[in-house]
Amino acid sequence: MTNRTRFAPSPNGLLHLGHAYAAVIAHDLARAGEGEFLVRIEDIDGTRSREDLAAEMLADLEWLGLPRDRPVLYQSSRIDAYARAGEELIRRGLLYPCTCTRAEIAAAAREIGPDGPIYPGTCRGREPDQGISAAWRLDVARASALAGPLWWHDALAGEQLARPDLLGDVVLLRKDAPASYHLAATLDDAFQGISLVTRGMDLFASTHIHRLLQALLDLPVPRWHHHPLLVEADGRKLAKRRGSPALKDLRDGGADGLALARALRDGRFPAGISLGQGLDTAP
Ligand code: GLU
Ligand code: ZN
Repeated sequence: MTNRTRFAPSPNGLLHLGHAYAAVIAHDLARAGEGEFLVRIEDIDGTRSREDLAAEMLADLEWLGLPRDRPVLYQSSRIDAYARAGEELIRRGLLYPCTCTRAEIAAAAREIGPDGPIYPGTCRGREPDQGISAAWRLDVARASALAGPLWWHDALAGEQLARPDLLGDVVLLRKDAPASYHLAATLDDAFQGISLVTRGMDLFASTHIHRLLQALLDLPVPRWHHHPLLVEADGRKLAKRRGSPALKDLRDGGADGLALARALRDGRFPAGISLGQGLDTAP
Protein backbone atom coordinates (compact mmCIF):
# COMPACT_ATOMS: atom_id res chain seq x y z
CA MET A 1 0.00 0.00 0.00
CA THR A 2 1.54 3.32 -0.96
CA ASN A 3 0.74 6.07 1.45
CA ARG A 4 1.25 9.77 1.15
CA THR A 5 1.55 11.11 4.68
CA ARG A 6 2.39 14.45 6.20
CA PHE A 7 3.76 16.02 9.33
CA ALA A 8 1.97 19.32 9.99
CA PRO A 9 3.40 21.27 12.92
CA SER A 10 2.23 24.71 14.01
CA PRO A 11 5.23 27.02 14.42
CA ASN A 12 4.19 28.56 17.71
CA GLY A 13 6.73 26.74 19.86
CA LEU A 14 9.73 24.49 19.45
CA LEU A 15 9.18 20.81 18.69
CA HIS A 16 9.73 18.29 21.48
CA LEU A 17 10.03 14.50 21.65
CA GLY A 18 6.29 14.02 21.13
CA HIS A 19 6.54 15.82 17.80
CA ALA A 20 9.62 13.79 16.86
CA TYR A 21 7.65 10.62 17.54
CA ALA A 22 4.75 11.86 15.38
CA ALA A 23 7.13 12.80 12.56
CA VAL A 24 8.87 9.40 12.68
CA ILE A 25 5.50 7.64 12.41
CA ALA A 26 4.37 9.74 9.45
CA HIS A 27 7.71 9.32 7.71
CA ASP A 28 7.94 5.57 8.29
CA LEU A 29 4.37 4.83 7.22
CA ALA A 30 5.14 6.50 3.90
CA ARG A 31 8.50 4.76 3.56
CA ALA A 32 6.95 1.36 4.33
CA GLY A 33 5.73 1.34 0.73
CA GLU A 34 6.74 3.47 -2.21
CA GLY A 35 4.96 6.37 -0.57
CA GLU A 36 5.79 9.98 0.06
CA PHE A 37 6.31 11.98 3.22
CA LEU A 38 5.26 15.63 3.06
CA VAL A 39 5.62 18.52 5.46
CA ARG A 40 3.12 21.31 6.02
CA ILE A 41 3.73 24.31 8.23
CA GLU A 42 0.44 25.40 9.83
CA ASP A 43 1.32 29.06 10.14
CA ILE A 44 -1.95 30.96 9.81
CA ASP A 45 -2.23 31.97 13.43
CA GLY A 46 -0.78 35.45 12.89
CA THR A 47 -0.42 36.23 16.56
CA ARG A 48 1.44 33.05 17.47
CA SER A 49 3.22 31.77 14.33
CA ARG A 50 6.88 32.64 13.94
CA GLU A 51 9.04 32.17 10.88
CA ASP A 52 12.14 31.44 12.92
CA LEU A 53 10.33 28.57 14.68
CA ALA A 54 9.27 27.09 11.34
CA ALA A 55 12.93 27.15 10.25
CA GLU A 56 13.97 25.36 13.46
CA MET A 57 11.32 22.69 12.82
CA LEU A 58 12.68 21.97 9.36
CA ALA A 59 16.19 21.77 10.81
CA ASP A 60 14.89 19.33 13.45
CA LEU A 61 13.44 17.05 10.76
CA GLU A 62 16.70 17.07 8.88
CA TRP A 63 18.59 16.28 12.09
CA LEU A 64 16.24 13.35 12.74
CA GLY A 65 16.89 12.01 9.23
CA LEU A 66 13.33 12.44 7.96
CA PRO A 67 13.62 13.93 4.48
CA ARG A 68 10.50 15.16 2.72
CA ASP A 69 9.56 14.27 -0.85
CA ARG A 70 8.01 17.58 -1.89
CA PRO A 71 8.53 21.25 -1.13
CA VAL A 72 7.10 22.39 2.21
CA LEU A 73 3.55 23.74 2.03
CA TYR A 74 3.00 26.87 4.14
CA GLN A 75 -0.62 27.46 5.05
CA SER A 76 -0.01 31.19 4.81
CA SER A 77 0.13 30.67 1.03
CA ARG A 78 -3.35 29.11 0.97
CA ILE A 79 -5.49 31.85 2.45
CA ASP A 80 -7.51 32.42 -0.73
CA ALA A 81 -8.49 28.76 -0.86
CA TYR A 82 -9.75 28.87 2.74
CA ALA A 83 -11.75 32.02 2.01
CA ARG A 84 -13.32 30.50 -1.11
CA ALA A 85 -14.41 27.36 0.74
CA GLY A 86 -15.74 29.47 3.61
CA GLU A 87 -17.76 31.64 1.21
CA GLU A 88 -19.22 28.59 -0.45
CA LEU A 89 -20.36 27.15 2.88
CA ILE A 90 -21.85 30.53 3.86
CA ARG A 91 -23.69 30.74 0.55
CA ARG A 92 -25.15 27.32 1.18
CA GLY A 93 -26.41 28.41 4.59
CA LEU A 94 -24.16 26.03 6.51
CA LEU A 95 -22.25 28.63 8.52
CA TYR A 96 -23.53 31.34 10.82
CA PRO A 97 -21.77 34.32 12.36
CA CYS A 98 -20.97 34.20 16.07
CA THR A 99 -19.80 37.07 18.24
CA CYS A 100 -19.80 35.21 21.56
CA THR A 101 -16.73 35.59 23.73
CA ARG A 102 -14.91 32.64 25.23
CA ALA A 103 -16.25 33.61 28.67
CA GLU A 104 -19.85 33.82 27.39
CA ILE A 105 -19.51 30.38 25.85
CA ALA A 106 -18.02 28.89 29.01
CA ALA A 107 -20.88 30.39 31.07
CA ALA A 108 -23.64 29.18 28.72
CA ALA A 109 -22.19 25.78 27.80
CA ARG A 110 -24.14 22.78 29.05
CA GLU A 111 -21.59 20.16 28.06
CA ILE A 112 -17.83 19.76 28.04
CA GLY A 113 -16.58 18.03 24.89
CA PRO A 114 -13.17 16.58 24.01
CA ASP A 115 -11.85 20.07 23.22
CA GLY A 116 -13.53 22.00 26.03
CA PRO A 117 -16.99 23.55 26.46
CA ILE A 118 -19.31 22.72 23.56
CA TYR A 119 -20.71 25.82 21.92
CA PRO A 120 -24.31 26.09 23.15
CA GLY A 121 -25.66 27.37 19.84
CA THR A 122 -26.46 30.89 21.04
CA CYS A 123 -26.02 32.48 17.59
CA ARG A 124 -27.30 29.58 15.48
CA GLY A 125 -29.65 30.71 12.73
CA ARG A 126 -28.38 34.27 12.92
CA GLU A 127 -28.23 36.13 9.61
CA PRO A 128 -24.97 37.81 8.58
CA ASP A 129 -24.95 41.38 9.97
CA GLN A 130 -23.28 44.02 7.88
CA GLY A 131 -20.01 45.29 9.23
CA ILE A 132 -19.87 43.13 12.33
CA SER A 133 -16.71 41.19 12.78
CA ALA A 134 -17.61 37.65 13.69
CA ALA A 135 -16.33 34.11 13.65
CA TRP A 136 -18.26 31.71 11.43
CA ARG A 137 -19.47 28.47 12.90
CA LEU A 138 -20.55 25.30 11.17
CA ASP A 139 -24.20 24.42 11.78
CA VAL A 140 -23.36 20.79 12.48
CA ALA A 141 -26.94 19.51 12.72
CA ARG A 142 -27.85 21.07 9.40
CA ALA A 143 -24.65 19.97 7.71
CA SER A 144 -25.01 16.41 9.04
CA ALA A 145 -28.59 16.21 7.82
CA LEU A 146 -27.40 17.25 4.39
CA ALA A 147 -24.47 14.82 4.31
CA GLY A 148 -26.21 11.80 5.84
CA PRO A 149 -24.33 9.16 7.88
CA LEU A 150 -20.58 9.15 7.24
CA TRP A 151 -17.86 6.69 8.09
CA TRP A 152 -14.11 6.91 8.34
CA HIS A 153 -11.32 4.46 8.95
CA ASP A 154 -8.62 4.58 11.58
CA ALA A 155 -5.74 2.13 11.26
CA LEU A 156 -5.71 1.39 15.00
CA ALA A 157 -9.31 2.01 16.09
CA GLY A 158 -11.04 0.60 13.00
CA GLU A 159 -14.18 1.81 11.24
CA GLN A 160 -15.77 4.88 12.83
CA LEU A 161 -19.22 6.39 12.43
CA ALA A 162 -18.61 10.14 12.11
CA ARG A 163 -19.92 11.97 15.18
CA PRO A 164 -19.35 15.66 14.40
CA ASP A 165 -21.92 16.46 17.10
CA LEU A 166 -19.29 15.47 19.68
CA LEU A 167 -17.45 18.73 19.01
CA GLY A 168 -20.55 20.79 18.24
CA ASP A 169 -20.72 23.88 16.03
CA VAL A 170 -17.00 24.48 15.62
CA VAL A 171 -15.54 27.68 14.20
CA LEU A 172 -14.43 27.38 10.58
CA LEU A 173 -13.57 31.01 9.84
CA ARG A 174 -11.92 32.78 12.71
CA LYS A 175 -12.20 36.44 13.56
CA ASP A 176 -8.46 36.75 14.14
CA ALA A 177 -7.07 34.35 11.52
CA PRO A 178 -7.92 33.34 7.95
CA ALA A 179 -9.38 29.96 8.89
CA SER A 180 -9.64 27.54 11.76
CA TYR A 181 -7.46 24.47 12.06
CA HIS A 182 -10.39 22.26 10.97
CA LEU A 183 -11.02 24.00 7.68
CA ALA A 184 -7.39 24.66 6.76
CA ALA A 185 -6.13 21.17 7.58
CA THR A 186 -9.00 19.46 5.76
CA LEU A 187 -8.56 21.54 2.62
CA ASP A 188 -4.80 21.10 2.66
CA ASP A 189 -4.84 17.35 3.19
CA ALA A 190 -6.91 17.18 -0.01
CA PHE A 191 -4.75 19.76 -1.81
CA GLN A 192 -1.59 17.82 -0.94
CA GLY A 193 -3.15 14.50 -1.93
CA ILE A 194 -2.62 12.97 1.50
CA SER A 195 -3.90 9.39 1.54
CA LEU A 196 -3.07 8.58 5.17
CA VAL A 197 -3.43 11.28 7.82
CA THR A 198 -1.22 10.41 10.77
CA ARG A 199 -1.41 12.41 13.97
CA GLY A 200 -1.78 12.11 17.71
CA MET A 201 -4.81 10.62 19.40
CA ASP A 202 -5.57 14.07 20.84
CA LEU A 203 -6.98 15.00 17.43
CA PHE A 204 -9.17 11.90 17.08
CA ALA A 205 -12.40 13.83 17.75
CA SER A 206 -11.46 16.49 15.20
CA THR A 207 -11.60 13.84 12.50
CA HIS A 208 -15.38 13.59 12.88
CA ILE A 209 -15.59 17.23 11.79
CA HIS A 210 -13.02 16.79 9.03
CA ARG A 211 -14.97 13.87 7.60
CA LEU A 212 -18.11 16.03 7.50
CA LEU A 213 -16.22 18.85 5.78
CA GLN A 214 -14.94 16.42 3.16
CA ALA A 215 -18.50 15.40 2.39
CA LEU A 216 -19.72 19.01 2.23
CA LEU A 217 -16.86 20.19 0.03
CA ASP A 218 -16.68 17.08 -2.12
CA LEU A 219 -13.08 16.31 -1.14
CA PRO A 220 -11.37 12.91 -1.34
CA VAL A 221 -11.51 10.88 1.86
CA PRO A 222 -8.14 9.65 3.16
CA ARG A 223 -7.57 7.06 5.87
CA TRP A 224 -6.34 7.98 9.31
CA HIS A 225 -3.82 6.67 11.78
CA HIS A 226 -4.17 8.31 15.20
CA HIS A 227 -1.25 7.21 17.30
CA PRO A 228 -0.98 7.25 21.09
CA LEU A 229 0.88 10.23 22.53
CA LEU A 230 4.09 10.15 24.49
CA VAL A 231 3.27 10.84 28.11
CA GLU A 232 5.13 11.72 31.30
CA ALA A 233 5.15 9.44 34.32
CA ASP A 234 1.94 11.17 35.53
CA GLY A 235 0.16 10.22 32.30
CA ARG A 236 0.01 13.75 30.93
CA LYS A 237 1.20 14.40 27.41
CA LEU A 238 4.64 15.89 26.94
CA ALA A 239 4.82 19.65 26.97
CA LYS A 240 7.74 21.96 26.73
CA ARG A 241 6.35 24.06 29.55
CA ARG A 242 6.58 21.01 31.83
CA GLY A 243 10.24 20.51 31.09
CA SER A 244 10.26 18.27 28.02
CA PRO A 245 13.41 19.24 26.15
CA ALA A 246 13.09 20.97 22.79
CA LEU A 247 14.59 19.08 19.86
CA LYS A 248 16.50 22.24 18.99
CA ASP A 249 18.24 22.17 22.37
CA LEU A 250 19.18 18.51 21.96
CA ARG A 251 20.42 19.29 18.45
CA ASP A 252 22.41 22.33 19.57
CA GLY A 253 23.84 20.23 22.41
CA GLY A 254 25.33 17.79 19.93
CA ALA A 255 22.92 14.88 20.44
CA ASP A 256 22.62 12.32 17.66
CA GLY A 257 19.29 12.89 15.86
CA LEU A 258 19.45 9.67 13.85
CA ALA A 259 19.95 7.66 17.05
CA LEU A 260 17.02 9.46 18.65
CA ALA A 261 14.76 8.68 15.67
CA ARG A 262 15.86 5.04 15.83
CA ALA A 263 15.09 4.86 19.54
CA LEU A 264 11.62 6.35 19.06
CA ARG A 265 10.97 3.96 16.20
CA ASP A 266 11.92 1.00 18.41
CA GLY A 267 9.84 2.21 21.34
CA ARG A 268 12.88 3.00 23.47
CA PHE A 269 11.90 6.21 25.22
CA PRO A 270 13.89 8.40 27.62
CA ALA A 271 13.43 7.74 31.34
CA GLY A 272 10.02 8.74 32.66
CA ILE A 273 8.42 8.82 29.21
CA SER A 274 6.12 6.19 27.77
CA LEU A 275 3.35 5.73 25.24
CA GLY A 276 -0.08 6.74 26.51
CA GLN A 277 -3.22 4.70 26.33
CA GLY A 278 -4.54 6.13 23.13
CA LEU A 279 -8.04 7.47 23.51
CA ASP A 280 -7.76 7.78 27.28
CA THR A 281 -4.65 9.93 27.20
CA ALA A 282 -5.37 12.98 29.32
CA PRO A 283 -4.96 16.27 27.47
N1 GLU B 1 -0.83 21.56 13.47
C1 GLU B 1 -1.40 20.58 14.35
C2 GLU B 1 -0.57 20.47 15.61
O1 GLU B 1 0.58 20.84 15.59
C3 GLU B 1 -1.44 19.18 13.77
C4 GLU B 1 -2.45 19.07 12.75
C5 GLU B 1 -2.68 17.69 12.15
O2 GLU B 1 -1.79 16.85 12.17
O3 GLU B 1 -3.78 17.52 11.64
O4 GLU B 1 -1.10 20.04 16.59
ZN1 ZN C 1 -22.26 32.96 19.36
